[in-house]
Amino acid sequence: MSDTIFGKIIRGEIPSDFLYEDEHCIAINDINPQAPVHVLVIPKRGIPRLVDSGADDKELLGHLMLVAGKVAEQQGVADAFRLIVNNGANAGQTVFHLHLHIIGGRPFAEGRMAG
Ligand code: 5GP
Repeated sequence: MSDTIFGKIIRGEIPSDFLYEDEHCIAINDINPQAPVHVLVIPKRGIPRLVDSGADDKELLGHLMLVAGKVAEQQGVADAFRLIVNNGANAGQTVFHLHLHIIGGRPFAEGRMAG
């Protein structure tokens, strides 16, 4: 497992409220939310970036998407949310342990990919 802040959270070394947990992943509120709902879905396996995943991770990646949908429902934003993966520092990735951002609960600008 990775030695990032997320590795420490998953191992319980840093206390954190899990919104969801199963054997493969957790979901937690982002510490610096960009919207009323800003949840991170984090696999327990410490893959640094999306591009570092391989064929062996196929099931895990699909699972993360399914969990993201469930957590969005649980958070009341199933009708309108964005799922974001930042891959690499130049794309804004700051924690090198793969994670999905669920962003919702506010209006999104039409026709824009982000913001
Ligand atoms: P990235 O920029 O790598 O895609 O996203 C990392 C996210 O992790 C950021 O939105 C940041 O606010 C969040 N984050 C960083 N450290 C912590 C932490 O200790 N706890 C939680 N819950 N979120 C964190």
